[in-house]
Amino acid sequence: MSRLHFFFQSAFLQIFCDTTPSSDMVKIALQLSAALENLTGLAPADDDFKWFFKFKCSSCGEVPDKWQHISRSEEHEVKGGRGTANAVIKCKLCGRENSVDVIADSIRKYGFADAGRFRQVAAFDCRGMEPVDFSPRDGWVVKGFKVSEDDEEEGSESGKVFDDVDLTEGEWADYDDVSDESVFISEIKHQFVKIK
Ligand code: ZN
Repeated sequence: MSRLHFFFQSAFLQIFCDTTPSSDMVKIALQLSAALENLTGLAPADDDFKWFFKFKCSSCGEVPDKWQHISRSEEHEVKGGRGTANAVIKCKLCGRENSVDVIADSIRKYGFADAGRFRQVAAFDCRGMEPVDFSPRDGWVVKGFKVSEDDEEEGSESGKVFDDVDLTEGEWADYDDVSDESVFISEIKHQFVKIK
């Protein structure tokens, strides 16, 4: 195939075969709020972390009662030569193929000082669908935090790392043997915010 031929074919594919209008592309930030007791830096452990969502199809409005996962480490082919995505999900009702990516560098740690406030933990590039519910599950990492006895200072990390935190039950508890403190995560809430 000549280069010119390839160019025209690509242009044709982009114009006539792109079934996802640009208005259906949306960036969504997942914000968490939680109470952290003697802990800081809550974050997914690595790129294998699975983000579980329920999605709404932007095309027909269907919301399947099924959790779908997205992982930075997964690459799935998107039909029509549009590369790959971290998750490709076909709507069972209208048949449209939707896809989503974890946005690079969107992962943020939820810190001790953030407690009780909504903060972005990750953001997603959504094409043809939007998340409507989130399930935190497992694969989180969090660090021990020693609150300072001096009111002027906030405190510092104890050095203890908890590397397989399971938030499935909506709360989690353990013991930091470096700081000699009980550690606890509770009151986990989430919200979705459209970003630019
Ligand atoms: Zn649909």
